[in-house]
Amino acid sequence: MIIAVDGPAASGKGTIARALARHYRLPHLDTGLLYRAVAATVLREGLDPTIEADCVAACDFDDALLGDPWLRTDDAGKTASIVSAHPLVRAALLHRQRRFAAQPGGAVLDGRDIGTVIAPDADAKLFVKATPSIRARRRHLELVRSGETVTFDRVLADIRARDERDSGRATAPLAMSPDAAPLDTSFLSIEAAIDRAIAIVEGQRAG
Ligand code: C5P
Repeated sequence: MIIAVDGPAASGKGTIARALARHYRLPHLDTGLLYRAVAATVLREGLDPTIEADCVAACDFDDALLGDPWLRTDDAGKTASIVSAHPLVRAALLHRQRRFAAQPGGAVLDGRDIGTVIAPDADAKLFVKATPSIRARRRHLELVRSGETVTFDRVLADIRARDERDSGRATAPLAMSPDAAPLDTSFLSIEAAIDRAIAIVEGQRAG
């Protein structure tokens, strides 16, 4: 079974995808990490994230980089959003994601274009969302806990800018697949959101 989980930054899609992977005993791929790894490689090699050829050269990164904690920072996310707008970067990372989805038994993938581009035939598709201010509040809390000094307003502005870039790009923009089920986590606890996600997957499998 392939489960596609899409949604904007800090919507809860990563938590939900990990919980679904645990529940169904499937391997999980956080596809945002791939774009973050490209961003890290670009910056470390002194390349320019706005130049497509520079970013394509950075797509051949070592898998070990995916465990680097820097990838989880806000700077990595911001730069990932810039490099991910280049069509040739998306093309370079496409096979890796499709290969992961196609493994025997299936997989759970989360990102922005899983239901629309990477696995359009997925058995279950969720589009996880929450209001920008609630997503900013969650992200702010996470950053403060991890020791970063940043204001709520800054985080909210970054979230809005990232949404705009991810939704506005020409190639594989953040968009809900017409056959995906929306899941608004704005006013749900983590446990309630996970229960709802499992119920949606069960419904889609049955239907
Ligand atoms: O999900 P995460 O915040 O880690 O993703 C970082 C950035 O990578 C996103 O803002 C988005 O621009 C890009 N991304 C993407 N397609 C995906 C996953 C992430 O464009 N499937």
